[in-house]
Amino acid sequence: MFERLGEKVERLKQEAEAGRADRIDYRCRACGERFHREQETCPDCGSAEVGRIEE
Ligand SMILES: [Zn+2]
Repeated sequence: MFERLGEKVERLKQEAEAGRADRIDYRCRACGERFHREQETCPDCGSAEVGRIEE
């Protein structure tokens, strides 16, 4: 489970490094959904475990 989450994070980094304008800075720690802006709760799974992605 942690390995799968790690893969998503790695993919995120690669997308960020590709120089995309639509940068994603926030992620749901419960389901891995990604957001451009901070969300109080995840729209996908309803978890409050949404946090900023640290580089
Ligand atoms: Zn979620």
